[in-house]
This record gives sequence, C-alpha cells and structure tokens, in this order.
Amino acid sequence: AGDLAGRHVTVAGLGVSGRSAALALARMGAGVTVVDGGDSDTHREHAERLRKEGVTARLGDAGTLPEGTDLIVTSPGWKPESPLFRAARAADVPVWGDVELAWRLRGTASGSTGAPAPWLAVTGTNGKTTTVQMLSAILRAAGLRAPAVGNIGTPLIDVVLDEQEPPDVLAVELSSYQLHWAPSLRAHSGAVLNLAPDHLDWHGSMEAYAADKGRIYEGNQVACVYNCADPATERLVREADVEEGCRAIGFTLGTPGPSELGVVDGILVDRAFVEDRQRQAQELAEVGDVTPAAPHNIANALAAAALARAYGVPPSAVRDGLRAFSPDAHRIAHVADVGGVAYVNDSKATNTHAAQASLAAYESIVWIAGGLAKGATFDELVRTSASRLRGAVLIGADRALIAEALARHAPDVPVVDLARTDTGAMTAAVHEASRLARTGDTVLMAPACASMDMFVNYNARGDAFAEAVRELAAGRADNV
Ligand code: ADP
Repeated sequence: AGDLAGRHVTVAGLGVSGRSAALALARMGAGVTVVDGGDSDTHREHAERLRKEGVTARLGDAGTLPEGTDLIVTSPGWKPESPLFRAARAADVPVWGDVELAWRLRGTASGSTGAPAPWLAVTGTNGKTTTVQMLSAILRAAGLRAPAVGNIGTPLIDVVLDEQEPPDVLAVELSSYQLHWAPSLRAHSGAVLNLAPDHLDWHGSMEAYAADKGRIYEGNQVACVYNCADPATERLVREADVEEGCRAIGFTLGTPGPSELGVVDGILVDRAFVEDRQRQAQELAEVGDVTPAAPHNIANALAAAALARAYGVPPSAVRDGLRAFSPDAHRIAHVADVGGVAYVNDSKATNTHAAQASLAAYESIVWIAGGLAKGATFDELVRTSASRLRGAVLIGADRALIAEALARHAPDVPVVDLARTDTGAMTAAVHEASRLARTGDTVLMAPACASMDMFVNYNARGDAFAEAVRELAAGRADNV
C-alpha cells in the first residue's frame, strides 16, 4: 500500500480519524479530498488546517463522488447505504475504513525493527474500552510498548506510522463499524466480549451486526477469545476462518474448563496457557485486584488476560497490570454521598446491555434514564431490574419507551417523567431523584440510551450529572 502516492483518495468525514487519515495520505503523496455533509464553523476550521497541508476539503456535500477518485477512506460512522458509497459501488471504487488503511500501511513507517507490531483486538457491545485499557496495562507491566488504540480515541493510523516510538504490540479497540470496513485485517488474537442488540439502525439487523463483530476473528493467528456465558460469541469463533493452530479460548466467571480462563475461590485462573505441565491451572490475580470488582468487570479482566497470555505475557504481569488499571470517568463512577444516598455516574451506559450490568450492581436504586433509544426495547432490562428499583426519573427524547416498560413490569415503582430534553433537565432530574431516594439508596444515572438528543456526548451528560450532584450537596450544606 506504499503505492498510494499519486492516487486520488477521497476521505469521508472530517472527524478525528478522517483528519488523521487525510494528513497521513497527503504526506505520502496521495491527492486527498475530504468530503463532509456539515458546514459549521468547526468544519471550516478543520478544513482550513487541512488545506494548509495540501488537502482539498469539500463541505456541505457528502453525497457526490469527487471526479477521478481511486479509493475512498471512510470514517467509521458512515452508513454502508450512504449515497457516496452507492456511487462508489457503481464506479467500482473500493471503500476502506480507517482501520483497513492502518492495517495496510502498518510497518511501512520505519522498517527499522522489521516486522510490524502485532494487533491484539477487542470488540463487543460493551466493555471494549475498559478491556483494551486493562490489556494495555498488562502488556506494559510486562515491559512492552503497548498503547491502547483505535475506537478508544487514538487513531490507529497515527500509531502504525509512528517512527519515533514504534510500538511492540497494539491493544486495539474496534467498533462494529470499523470491523465492517476492515476486510483484510488479520489480528494476532481477537476477542468478542459480548453481543447484545445495539446500533441496529446502522447495521440493519442483529445478524449483520454479529457478522461484522465476527470479522475480528478472521485470520487470527494464535487465539480467538470468546465469552462462555454468551454462546453467540462462541458461534462466531466456529464460523471464522483462522490460521492453522489458532485456538478457541473461553472466559467464564465460573470454574474454567481446559481451554478457558475463569474464577476459582476468588482467584482468576488460567487453564488455557499453562506452561508447567504438572499444574492444572495457573493463578493470575485475585478478584480484588480488579476495580471495580463487579462481575461484568471481572469478565473484562479475564478477556484482557486471555489476550495477554496468548501473546505470551507471564502471570505476574497480568496481576501487576490489573492492579495498575483504574477505570475511566463516566463508567460506574461514584460522584458523592449526599444525605446518606450515593450518587453514581454511569453515563457510558448508552445501551440496555450496559445499563443492565450497572443496575445489577446495586440493591435499592433511584434510576435516572432516557435519551436516544437507537431502536432498542426496554422490557427485558426493566423486568430483570424491577425488584431493585426504588424509583425512576425519565429524561430525553425516547423516555416514553422506558415509561411504558416500567408501567408493564414495575407498576408500583414511582416514576417522574420530566418531559424535558434541554441540557438543564439533568439538574432537575438529580433534584427529583434526591426526593425519591431514602438513606442507603443509590441514585444511578445509567440512561440505557445515547446522549445526543440532549448533550454533545456521554461525557457532557456525565459532567452535567456530576455538576448537579455537587450543587445538590452544596445546597444541603447551606441549609444546615
Ligand atoms: P465500550 O467501549 O464497549 O463502550 P466501556 O468499557 O466504555 O465499553 O463500558 C461501557 C459501558 O458498559 C459502561 O457503562 C460499563 O459500566 C458497561 N460495561 C462494561 N463492561 C461490560 C460488560 N462486560 N458487560 C456489560 N456491560 C459492561
């Protein structure tokens, strides 16, 4: 792929990955045009900066294929049915995602160390970011240069072309969108953490979504890591075409079988990669080494450990890495205790599967929920959590769907429907939740929905919640 010099490449989207792809391509001598349907001040600023690097930018039109395009490099969010891709198909122009581009260009950078860094890849509906951070921490504890990259925020292209500090191995987070556009990716080892309905509006169906996730296993060299509690992930392993000798490795919260990692008496153990044949299992770490030690997070730790062990990392590094790991903001983050009530921010629970995990972690909950449902239904979530709900406060565009599920499965739970979608609604929601809560309760903001109807992103939603809780605490202090 070093032969992109002189080719005409159209980059779809001016986001983080689009901008880094455009710059990388321009620097290698390609003729680059970036197209984006938006035309805001921010778009224009980005376009101006790219123009200084010799990139052409076309704003306000995302649908027409620029004359003479040899290749499209797309940002992950763009739907396969977008007019630009329809035009590309008609003209036989290939479409690569940012991951495909990085995969093809890897190792063209330095040539100093010879082989390009292998990829340990993670996907799944929930837990991706947490798991790649754990994985990166474990690999680093083993003395490796191993950045967490991809969907997590650091564009892959920047890392694979980094000549100053070439990585030894990459901990790569991949979204279903990115996998969709990365047909030639062949990871050292890959993991699908779990599969639950999400982004179905983009993929069209659960089957299509699962198939895109399953691409992470295609061509794996050493291990395909799956979740024993989620048979759909194991099915994807069986359907994948892998390198000879590549093993299927399961992770379980129970006692592990011979090709699995699992938990025995509060110890994370590995039965899949045991060097010492005298031993049945290799002890890796204690459950208490994982923060938070909630079940879903132990599962994430086991998946990270499986990939690291597949790469040959010793047990002590798994323990040290897990101890060094601390979760990102907005993921089951304790904000404050106010009047004997704990306030917890899980703004990152942008779908029902994630919200289920955090609702399962508390006993008596006042739940703040709502936002953009992205085609999801809420019956299962509400049914399985009903016994732990003290009350619910609903905000956001699709709150009626949650209200209906509560009416069906938790008719005795008091519900406050704020009927608001403005940013200030979060302050009102925290206030209402504080009125419903009793001493010992947890007010849990785990919306089970995306945030974009009210906020720029889930970070802004989490910040608004934390701010409202601090105001609440300050108000209480003033009243004393
Ligand atoms: P992703 O990168 O896949 O969005 P994160 O690690 O950022 O995943 O976590 C997203 C949300 O899902 C958080 O709200 C977290 O509490 C929840 N979560 C994390 N791991 C899991 C898991 N294994 N199963 C279910 N929910 C999870």
